[in-house]
Amino acid sequence: MMTPADPATLDYAMTRVADHFMFGIYFDLSRYLIAAGALTVLLLIFRGFAETRRIQRGRRASRADYTRELLSSMRTVAVYAVVTLAILVGRETGVILMKIQQATLWTIIWQFVVIVIAHNAWFYWAHRAMHSKRLFRATHLHHHKSRTPTPWTAYSFTMTEAVIEVAFVPVFLFTTSQLGIAYAGFAILFFIWHQMIRNVMAHAGSELFPTGWVDNPWTDWIATTTHHDLHHSSGHNFGFYFTFWDRWMGTEHPRYREAFREVTTRGREPEGLAEPAE
Ligand SMILES: [Zn+2]
Ligand SMILES: [Zn+2]
Repeated sequence: MMTPADPATLDYAMTRVADHFMFGIYFDLSRYLIAAGALTVLLLIFRGFAETRRIQRGRRASRADYTRELLSSMRTVAVYAVVTLAILVGRETGVILMKIQQATLWTIIWQFVVIVIAHNAWFYWAHRAMHSKRLFRATHLHHHKSRTPTPWTAYSFTMTEAVIEVAFVPVFLFTTSQLGIAYAGFAILFFIWHQMIRNVMAHAGSELFPTGWVDNPWTDWIATTTHHDLHHSSGHNFGFYFTFWDRWMGTEHPRYREAFREVTTRGREPEGLAEPAE
């Protein structure tokens, strides 16, 4: 049993905490830099495609936007690292059940699906709450300073919003642990990477999803880049991965499908005057 009077044990505990925190910084920073950096490079390589499918044609993110997004994302990484540390300590103390090995593929798949659906609901309702008059300024205004999103907008939050966004993970894992469900390490890892990739895609500024996406009932329930871009430019569309919460609650942008069709068929229209000459 650890007592505060035992310097050896306290030293050990402090070292463990410091190690976990540094792991959190590495883990949370690297995924942001890798995902936002990779998408930026892809948008540069496929410049023609990105320009044709630019969602907001009359406006571009400024250098000041990029700087603000990058700096505030570092603050978000620090908040996330504290939560990563808390989860790791929770696992070591038995408060959070987590299986690092010995999970079947089926377990990883169903746990991944459950956590994504749960996070989507958390995001939708937390997001709507942050848009209320009382909370908007203190929590979410900062994210909306990015009127024309870039991949680097993905983590551009106030400290309060970062806490609200990341709180889902410990709350979810604590709840499932109370139900006796040990989450598989791989299910959590896939969830985190899926979240990060969808987050930078939602802020890409150019539509990345294939033409016809919103006209096919098999794909229309998955949110596109236009879906979240419209949220930044004109409100509506509070959902993250999926469109169904916005449809159930009547918060979807009334011209969402039209806007998507317009962006994804531009190169094919004869009146495409904005097409580059080459
Ligand atoms: Zn918002
Ligand atoms: Zn956003």
